[in-house]
Amino acid sequence: MKTIGMLGGMSWESTASYYKAINEGIRSELGALHSAKICLYSVDFSEIEKLQHLGDWQGTAEILIEAANAIEQGGADFLIICTNTMHKVAPEIQAAINIPLLHIANATAEVLSNNNIKRVGLLGTRFTMEQEFYKNRISEHYGVEVIVPNKQQQTLVHNVIYDELCLGVIKDESRKQYIKLIEDLSKKGAEAVILGCTEISLLVQQNNTSVPLYDTTAIHAEAAVKLALAD
Ligand code: GLU
Repeated sequence: MKTIGMLGGMSWESTASYYKAINEGIRSELGALHSAKICLYSVDFSEIEKLQHLGDWQGTAEILIEAANAIEQGGADFLIICTNTMHKVAPEIQAAINIPLLHIANATAEVLSNNNIKRVGLLGTRFTMEQEFYKNRISEHYGVEVIVPNKQQQTLVHNVIYDELCLGVIKDESRKQYIKLIEDLSKKGAEAVILGCTEISLLVQQNNTSVPLYDTTAIHAEAAVKLALAD
């Protein structure tokens, strides 16, 4: 079994979900007392969040490169970055390390294209919904069209992530608002919706809506388990 390098803490609420999902995946594949070999580096999210909102992506990259180097030195065979948003600096991180990076958008797009999804809605931080680094990877490399909520709805999704979910606060009212947005995306022709922020599954699950949901935390964790067990 390979050692999974986890670059986490963004936020730790979702890193905890990853840790559990990866260990459950290994147990379900290997049985009994088997658990994942993991080298986890968890950053202080407050430092990252401040730089994100200042637009200082170079500053975030420096922190994450230092963490990724430590993970590599700790014996990881490959790396997962446990957040969608910080894949904005994935190319810089990959260039600074000698182990492969398992990209969250690739893992998600592969599942979408295996399921023959041609048009998908995307919920995530404003950075993920607005900028090209995530959407383009899915549309250009996998031919899946990505649609996002309008500006006002994006603000709502973004604020719930930073003001509630990353703090472990789960509100019924926010769940209702998210479900309405998911259903709006479906009315606009989305065959499914990507939960493109690793905390969203703390708020919304598949049993809350008939619109098919693609939870990036679960998909990324499952891809990591598969790679850890591959020859
Ligand atoms: N975990 C979130 C994501 O998947 C948001 C926190 C962050 O900005 O990294 O995008």
